[in-house]
Amino acid sequence: MLASTTDRRGRALRDLRISVTDRCNFRCVYCMPKEIFGRDFAFLPREQLLSFEEIVRIARAGIAHGVHKLRLTGGEPLLRRDIEELVRLLAQLCTPEGEPLDIAVTTNGSALAHKAAALREAGLNRVTVSLDSLDDATFRAMNDIDFPLERVLDGIRVAREVGFDAIKINTVVKRGVNDDDVTAIAERFKGTGITVRFIEFMDVGTTNGWNLDQVVPSAEVIARIDAVHPLEPIPPAYPGETATRWRYRDGDGEIGVISSVTQPFCGACTRARLSADGKLFTCLFAARGHDLRTLLRSGCSDVEIEDALVGIWSGREDHYSELRSAETSHAERIEMSYIGG
Ligand code: SAM
Ligand code: SF4
Ligand code: SF4
Repeated sequence: MLASTTDRRGRALRDLRISVTDRCNFRCVYCMPKEIFGRDFAFLPREQLLSFEEIVRIARAGIAHGVHKLRLTGGEPLLRRDIEELVRLLAQLCTPEGEPLDIAVTTNGSALAHKAAALREAGLNRVTVSLDSLDDATFRAMNDIDFPLERVLDGIRVAREVGFDAIKINTVVKRGVNDDDVTAIAERFKGTGITVRFIEFMDVGTTNGWNLDQVVPSAEVIARIDAVHPLEPIPPAYPGETATRWRYRDGDGEIGVISSVTQPFCGACTRARLSADGKLFTCLFAARGHDLRTLLRSGCSDVEIEDALVGIWSGREDHYSELRSAETSHAERIEMSYIGG
């Protein structure tokens, strides 16, 4: 059995987030503002995207060195043609101990009704759907393409029908935009087995106009919900879980909060991120990634990919969220839609 690889702060490599496209049909105001991601924006040309076989080779190298969880993201991952075929290939892999992997997707849900059955059949384990409001007008304004709420709710319904039982909802909370919707979202999914996770608006990338005044601290989200539906904290489901968990005292399920601004969790960050064009990033806030595509396309062996991965991870020092300040918020860094969250 190969030992798990640790970085310079003693953190193991456990999760690999794979961005399969930098394109998206939404223009969420906090992620791909229209003014920047307009008609002239230069997305990656097709030949620069990793093929499914290339993605699988990198995933396999990661798995040999500790990766247990794979998450497909983007851009919008369900826009990548034949995405279920990639799921099928990844679902055939297992850990060196012979355990199956945990394979998840994060999606805006716009194509979920159409894709859920094929993804399930291909071996996808879990689905996370991003949903920022249950008010149709607010939802349309936040995705900024006038996409109707009902179609995403339909996607969630179909995902349940085809057998996904560990569905999560991601809600990014932005002050003055959807903070008044928090309790309604919690209520909608309370008692359904679907867990909502409220995410603090982050200063990812440099185009979303982030400032601290727009961040709603998780403590405030919890206080709002707790005032109506009493909550109590519960321990993490596994070490390094990004969300802090709270359960309803009446036993009707749980919610989570992801507090990367007010309570950074870099000390337990075990995630590597692979961009759609094959660059490996060791932090969401990095300015640059490590190019694995050139290595792959030079005809390298699997051992060479593993060596590159181990070299990158063992040199990792990142802990951006612990350092966040007025100065760092102006630093160069990649966009969320490129690296996938
Ligand atoms: N398009 C897919 C989606 O929206 O689920 C996957 C990619 S998206 C970049 C991944 C997650 O990042 C989504 O849940 C989204 O809400 C979240 N996200 C994007 N920009 C963010 C920001 N500035 N702060 C916090 N979360 C953000
Ligand atoms: Fe697209 Fe997801 Fe970014 Fe929204 S958050 S613009 S759906 S990539
Ligand atoms: Fe991980 Fe970087 Fe986020 Fe810290 S700031 S939790 S190191 S991705």
